[in-house]
Amino acid sequence: MKLILLGAPGAGKGTQAEVICDALKIPAISTGNIIRDALAKGTEMGLKAKSYIDAGKLVPDEVVIGIIKDRLAKDDCANGFILDGFPRTIPQAEALDAMGIEIDRVVDIEVPDEKIAARMSGRRVCKACGASYHLEYKAPKQEGVCDACGAELIQRKDDHPDTVLERLEIYHERTEPLKDYYSAKGILRVVEGQEEVADTSALTLKALED
Ligand code: ADP
Ligand code: ZN
Repeated sequence: MKLILLGAPGAGKGTQAEVICDALKIPAISTGNIIRDALAKGTEMGLKAKSYIDAGKLVPDEVVIGIIKDRLAKDDCANGFILDGFPRTIPQAEALDAMGIEIDRVVDIEVPDEKIAARMSGRRVCKACGASYHLEYKAPKQEGVCDACGAELIQRKDDHPDTVLERLEIYHERTEPLKDYYSAKGILRVVEGQEEVADTSALTLKALED
């Protein structure tokens, strides 16, 4: 299964990607995580991406397309993969097509804008390992501490309320046209994001069946 998860920032793509990764035993690939990792390591790509990511703007297409090309060439992608946060623009989708990759399904997780800001304010990430949490939907066992590695949980700079509005605007303008792009190919399914993570997961897994 070659799957793309679409949706606004904060719609829960990352959480659903983890669930499907466990269920189908295929890797979940998040361009956001790859970029933040590079940033933390201070690589050249990370430095290039920093100003964009901090401002909530999209990293240039050629940079993310390069990241995805390298990642999809790895052995663990042979039986399929889940793309979380890529493509985010039409040129990125066209680049996937140009690589000869045939996507089986695109699941769009819909959450109304009014709910996004509230959801994003509850997001926390681990300073050390990048694991993500949510105060309401996916709370760590101990407040402020990563379950996986014990390091401190922080709020991402780009999850602050003013940046969130910028990201939402960019989502509607640059990413949402992908719904039509994949709908025209007959592979788009729409899932309404639910209050409970497990309820959204059930709908998402069902959307992979037909
Ligand atoms: P979220 O999970 O909130 O949607 P991500 O972690 O996927 O956010 O992405 C965070 C940031 O990383 C984006 O705001 C953008 O700056 C950059 N980024 C990630 N994926 C892409 C992409 N496909 N194209 C351009 N920029 C990207
Ligand atoms: Zn951690």
